[in-house]
Order: sequence, then C-alpha cells, then structure tokens
Amino acid sequence: MSKITTIRGMNDLPPEEVRVWNFAEEIIQKVFNSYGYEEIRFPIVEKTELFTRSNESADIVTKEMYTFEDKGGDSISLRPEGTAGCVRAAIDNDLIRVDSPRLWYQGPMFRYERPQKGRSRQFQQSSAEVFGIRSAEIDAELIILSSRIWKELGIEGNLNLEINNLGDEKTRKSYAKSLQAYFKAFEKDLDEDSRRKLDENPLRILDSKSESVQSLLKGAPNISEFISKDSEKEFNELTLLLGTAGIEFSVNQKLVRGLDYYNQTVYEWKTDQLGAQDTVCGGGRYDNLVEELGGKSCPATGFSIGMERLILLINETLDLSLENENIDLFFVCLSKESIQKAIMYSESLRENVSKLGIKINMGLEGAGSQFKKADKSGASFALILGDDELKNKTISMKGLRSKSDQETLSYEDLEKRIKKTYK
Ligand code: ATP
Ligand code: MG
Repeated sequence: MSKITTIRGMNDLPPEEVRVWNFAEEIIQKVFNSYGYEEIRFPIVEKTELFTRSNESADIVTKEMYTFEDKGGDSISLRPEGTAGCVRAAIDNDLIRVDSPRLWYQGPMFRYERPQKGRSRQFQQSSAEVFGIRSAEIDAELIILSSRIWKELGIEGNLNLEINNLGDEKTRKSYAKSLQAYFKAFEKDLDEDSRRKLDENPLRILDSKSESVQSLLKGAPNISEFISKDSEKEFNELTLLLGTAGIEFSVNQKLVRGLDYYNQTVYEWKTDQLGAQDTVCGGGRYDNLVEELGGKSCPATGFSIGMERLILLINETLDLSLENENIDLFFVCLSKESIQKAIMYSESLRENVSKLGIKINMGLEGAGSQFKKADKSGASFALILGDDELKNKTISMKGLRSKSDQETLSYEDLEKRIKKTYK
C-alpha cells in the first residue's frame, strides 16, 4: 500500500487491464468513425450552472455532483455526464447552425455515489450525440450503430435492448399526475427517496431500485395511455426499422432515464451477466436541451456506453488473453556495454524501419531470465548482445514465436532481415 491511497471510488487501471480497454476503445472508435461520426473534445470541468440548468431535479445534479469553488469564487463542477458539455460545445463552436453534426466523445465522468461492482465515482463513458435531425431514422441509426459495436466486440449475445416512448412534455405531465395519484395511495410503502420524488418528479420513481417499489410498479398506469397519435406514429416507425434491421428488442413501458431532459425515444442495453448494475448503455432523444442551454431550438439524440460495465462484461464473457502488441524486438543484454550498444542499434533500426517496437532489457539478469522476459514481452524476436557479439560486431537473433535456431549476423545483415520482415 502506498502512504496515500486513491480517493474512494476512483480506480487505477494497471497496464494489463488497459490492454482490454484499448481493445474495446479501438473498436468503438472505428465503428463511430465508420458511420461518419466525428470526435469532439470538451472540458471535464464546467460551470456548475451548465449541469444544474440541464438537469434540475436529477440525482446526479442534486446529490452526486462534485462541486467546488475555484480561486476566483466561481462554482465549478466535475462533469457528471457528457451531454450538457457536448451541447454547450456544439453551440459555442457553431457546429449546429452550420450542419447537423454527428459527434462522438469519450472520457471520464464523476458522480459521488456508493462504489460497488460496475459503479464508481470516476467512470468512463463513450458516447454519440446527433444534433439537428428529428426522425425515427436517426434513432434507428444510433441503435443499429450500438448493436454493431457489440457485434464487433463479440458480445452481442449478452445484451438485450429495451425501448420506450416518453412522448412529449404534455404526455409526461399527464402521466406524472396519474402516477402521483397512484402512488399517493401507497405512500407509506414507498422508501424515503421515492416519497421525495412523488412531489418533485414522479416519473423517476419508476427507476427506483427498491424491491417494494418495483412490485408496486406492476399495478401502476402505463405511459402509453397518454401518448399522442404523432408520437405513437414515430415510435412505430422506429420499431419497424429495428425489426427490419434484425435487432431484437422489448418495449418496457416503465423505462425512464436518470436525466430530466429526455423525450420521445429512450432505450437501454442491459445484460444479465453483471448483477445489479445491469445497464451497459443508455440513450434517447432530448429535443429541448439545445434551446434550454441557449442555442436555437434544435432536435437532438444520443447514447452513452458505461465503459467499466462494458469491460466487466467483456472480461466475463470473452477469453481474450491480450498480449502487448507493441513490441517486435527484445534486446537481451549481458553487460553495461551491450546495453549502450543496443541503444545505438535500436535507434538505427527505428530510423530505417518505420513503426518498429523495440524494448531493451536493462536489468543485467542471467540469460535465462532475460529470455523469459523476452517471451513475456510479446516480441517476435530476441536480439542478443553478449561478449562474443560485442567483440565481433555482430548480433544474435532468435525467433520467439516458433522453435528456431539462434543465428549470428552482422548489423547490416540484421537490418536487411528486419526490413524484409517488417516492411
Ligand atoms: P444507473 O441507473 O446504473 O445509475 P444511470 O441511469 O445513472 O445508471 P446514465 O446517466 O444513463 O446512467 O449513464 C449511462 C451509462 O453510464 C449507464 O448506463 C452506466 O453504464 C454508466 N454509469 C452511470 N453511472 C455510473 C457509475 N457511477 N459508475 C460506472 N458506470 C456508470
Ligand atoms: Mg445513476
């Protein structure tokens, strides 16, 4: 243990785990890019107001936000989610006025909640957001894109899609009233949190994790009773498109999202492999947020993947055993002088053969343990510099991936050989 521990709920990722993250992130980025989505980056810290304005009564704003006063006395917050910052950045950079941007980003989010499996205080999201398109087709594209990510990762069999229609504001107001009336009758059976939500935001009770509330929900009214004809038509278009694309889903009438700004389409990809924290990805439309944050009225839609949960699922279901793929050559050095020589040879090789990965061992261990390290490094060849090689200005080379004899070559011949192998 180091003298100073990490902050609770904020975790390190040792190199071995980072390999799995890189595997997943590379695939996700490739898929985003292949649908014409472009990466955007924006700050991790923003004015607190940005998050409070977009999400007045959401838990992440009222209870979970990391908020500080900076040295100038301004209230700033670590971003609890990415959408608000992305909307702000899209407005400020004039992306929305000029085009209907399709964007992606990834990075850390911060929420002060109780750490457990699949829930931490610093966590990572990979997200897509689209501005300026209001149609079932763009929501279908986003869902199809997310499903493509699961396929490319090889985990599509472990995720189920649930969708719901939250309608427009009028729908949600009428539904909230009806839910309120229903739950009022059971007020004494509600947990404290749900009782508070009963007045503030009754729809959020649907998201309660309490078992007694969940069982009460079975008898609660459904939102579909309040949906307008137009909204229903759009939702039907979406379900039809998903069906045609071969994407299985179930309609969950009790599905609401944790943030206030959603309307019309919402969805979650869930797994039964991870226990309680079962939502790996969530998304939906938020057609009023751009205007609320000061932009011109503009429809918007997007989703976020919770990367910790995705990585847990990958580790649970795939047998990856990833190696370090960056090292091609591993120098076994038997003296201080040979290390110095290896540094010079390596630079010359890097100069002449592009993208070559070379690691020089500097521990001066015995040859046996250096070869073990060479094997573990993921390199294809060991290059050996012992006393004889130094004396004769040669290098010995041994294949590590298949049984092969050690060969001794001049530097020039070695370079030719490496060039041929890695051109
Ligand atoms: P939950 O109900 O699990 O708290 P949420 O509705 O608060 O999730 P969103 O705000 O929709 O989550 O974020 C999208 C995704 O980010 C979630 O589906 C989840 O995979 C992930 N996520 C959210 N909070 C955390 C957290 N504290 N730690 C790890 N992942 C998280
Ligand atoms: Mg949450």
